[in-house]
Amino acid sequence: MYSVGIIGGGVSGVVIALQLAERGIENLLFEQKENVVNGPPFCHLHAGGNLYPDISDEQCRILMKQSIEMARLFPQSIDERPTFISVPKTESYRVDHIEDRLDMLVAYYKKLIEEDSANAVLGAPENYYKIYNQEDLDALAKMPTVKRPNSPDEWMINAAKLIDYNQLKMPIVLVQEYGWNLFRLGAQAQLALNRTDKSTLKLNTEVENIKDVRNQNLGYNWEIHTSETIYKVDYLVNSSGFKTGKFDDCLQLNVERLVEFKAAYVSQWQPMPGLIPELIFHGKRGTSHGMAQLTPYCEDYYQIHGMTEEITLFKNGLVKAKDNKAQPEFNEDIQQKINHGWKKDEIEMRTENAINYIAKFVPSFKSATVGGPPLCGAQQIPGDDVNLRVGEVSFPTEFYARSEIIKASSALTVANQVIDKMQQEKVISSIPQKPFGNSLLDSVSKNEIDKLASEFAVVRGYPKALSRLVIKRD
Ligand SMILES: Cc1cc2nc3c(=O)[nH]c(=O)nc-3n(C[C@H](O)[C@H](O)[C@H](O)COP(=O)(O)OP(=O)(O)OC[C@H]3O[C@@H](n4cnc5c(N)ncnc54)[C@H](O)[C@@H]3O)c2cc1C
Repeated sequence: MYSVGIIGGGVSGVVIALQLAERGIENLLFEQKENVVNGPPFCHLHAGGNLYPDISDEQCRILMKQSIEMARLFPQSIDERPTFISVPKTESYRVDHIEDRLDMLVAYYKKLIEEDSANAVLGAPENYYKIYNQEDLDALAKMPTVKRPNSPDEWMINAAKLIDYNQLKMPIVLVQEYGWNLFRLGAQAQLALNRTDKSTLKLNTEVENIKDVRNQNLGYNWEIHTSETIYKVDYLVNSSGFKTGKFDDCLQLNVERLVEFKAAYVSQWQPMPGLIPELIFHGKRGTSHGMAQLTPYCEDYYQIHGMTEEITLFKNGLVKAKDNKAQPEFNEDIQQKINHGWKKDEIEMRTENAINYIAKFVPSFKSATVGGPPLCGAQQIPGDDVNLRVGEVSFPTEFYARSEIIKASSALTVANQVIDKMQQEKVISSIPQKPFGNSLLDSVSKNEIDKLASEFAVVRGYPKALSRLVIKRD
């Protein structure tokens, strides 16, 4: 028997397993795929919510705090290049609102550093963002390219040479929101899990059913059924991502939730003489001019999001649960993409749409080509607000936790909330507060991460380069 069974080895499940193991609590983690953190992708550390002009200040602060915590746990997955944030002249977003919010975030970041100096992972607060006007950009565009930029101005020199900034409202912002490498995070987590006998990682193991035996005085509360074995656990964590509703349905828990399928595209461009920041061109989600996002990777690879139905979003890609079921179901086309991959012509068509979309603002990007299969997947959104960016954990019944994160950065918060709840429910005895960190994750070396992350990229069909950081770390 195990204390805790965790269904789903995405970012949420692995962080819960590692935090439990760190506190000496035995757990069993089930992942149906051949390695962990292999669900929907992530590439951006939302350390301030600057990709979302519509969300509340409170959500921005939570995103910043949670991002800083995850960056401290998984430093080898953080790509320290800034993000260029702009609003095209055709959009109604007000740039002065964006600036007000950035000032609020600087004050909040300072407070987080005062609380713990190790929170300074985004650099000095006074450098959190920098504003650029038309004259600044005109001057920077004339300066020589910088191969490896070291200051906001140097990043902006390279960006200003490529972007048609006459289409953009002024000013433009460069903010310290970094890249986040999912292959490296998964590799570090899997290596750490393999290092502890407190966590048992069951890869290639699909949970088929769960059975509630809480009232049967068996000395355990749940049975977890796989095709071969029945596992007995005291506490159950459902972190199965967009399939969370499947296990709610097993328990007849009726809840409102959405699931959404989205895709980002992998492209390759000609070699650039200097590195560029991530580029954001804001736009209203779901319209033909939704946000465009260009994320640089190594060896001239770039990931692209375009928040239109022809690129990242899909017709019927956002689905609500119905008929008193907790699990929403996608149509056949989307299920096919999730379970069996994409047809070649569709990869080409959507990646080309994505390249052309970016080329509206970065004309020379027109020469980019398809660089690999899309990074895609479905994610869950608790409730019915599609603009929610911070989902967390709920405890709908005794000895059961349901993790529904919307951004990968919420994983540690959820893990800590689950551990607190287990203590309240006396599944585990009360454990003294530990200092921040996870010694299992800390024990994994950069070389080990480099090696396994590149294996993860290759077995999943992506170029090895996607597993490396643009800004190397020691
Ligand atoms: C296109 C796209 C881009 C995104 N970009 C970002 C970003 O830049 N930054 C960010 O922070 N977030 C981003 N997100 C959101 C992020 O991907 C998710 O928040 C995060 O991956 C959710 O993690 P999770 O662990 O809750 O779920 P998942 O990652 O979905 O993990 C659930 C796991 O459970 C497993 N599982 C399911 N059912 C079973 C079963 N029956 N038995 C065993 N295993 C099972 C699955 O295989 C999966 O590995 C993006 C999402 C998408 C779709």
